[in-house]
Amino acid sequence: MVTTSSADTATSDAPDLFQSESEALEKARAIRADAGADAQRYRHALGELIGHYERLMRETRRLIGRSDRAEREMHALTQQLQYRATHDALTDVLNRSAVIERASKALRTDCAVMVLLDIDEFKKVNDDYGHPAGDTVILGIVDCLRRIVGSKGIIGRVGGEEFTVVLPGYELEEALALAETMRASIENHVFGAPVTRRITSSFGVSANSLGTSFDTAYGLADAALYKAKRSGRNRVEFTGGECVPRDAHEG
Ligand code: GH3
Ligand code: MG
Ligand code: MG
Repeated sequence: MVTTSSADTATSDAPDLFQSESEALEKARAIRADAGADAQRYRHALGELIGHYERLMRETRRLIGRSDRAEREMHALTQQLQYRATHDALTDVLNRSAVIERASKALRTDCAVMVLLDIDEFKKVNDDYGHPAGDTVILGIVDCLRRIVGSKGIIGRVGGEEFTVVLPGYELEEALALAETMRASIENHVFGAPVTRRITSSFGVSANSLGTSFDTAYGLADAALYKAKRSGRNRVEFTGGECVPRDAHEG
């Protein structure tokens, strides 16, 4: 809608967008001021005002519709941007910064187990089958994780072939069992041509009490992952810490 008042436009060079309406209004004012004006002139001025009024109403409805559409489009765009800023483009799981934010938040409200996994000898997969096949393996592994973790945890891609699964309020034993299920699922997954070999991943797990920083939780899981790699890969290792869920304290 045009917001410039007729007073503003009178002093500027911009054309008056309401020129015909202003003229009709002026005419109506003049007739009203003229005590001797007859009914015919009144009716004519009123007819003109009605015409302009109806046109302005139509135009206003059209502009409101357009503005509502623009607002909806802007909202959808903002959501898309927000999604892209927090999710990994290849796998659609959370990206590194979003994982840090979500995991830190989870650790401020309860204990959490952090599972860190790294694909074993992935460089060879790329070397032998090509980078696109490597991407397919990454997608297959994320599918395995999604199926097993569901809504129980937060899955994120923290590096090229490195993923975290944060399990808020999880007992260590349950989390280790879940990590073992993930490991076995990846080992048994058939990725399809051209990837003919078995793909495995190594896992490092840390249990973290309420208030632990992301860096500490990640550092402990990373140390466990290093142990898993050194011990021959395709295994789950755990280093220190404990996760006693808040519910357990309360109960
Ligand atoms: P390790 O068992 O010790 O983890 O060996 P690795 O070969 O997996 O480890 P390394 O860190 O040497 O290699 C990781 C490889 O992952 C190298 C890099 O090219 C590849 N990579 C990282 N991100 C992507 C990706 O998005 N797509 C593909 N296809 N490859 C990726
Ligand atoms: Mg790695
Ligand atoms: Mg690796």
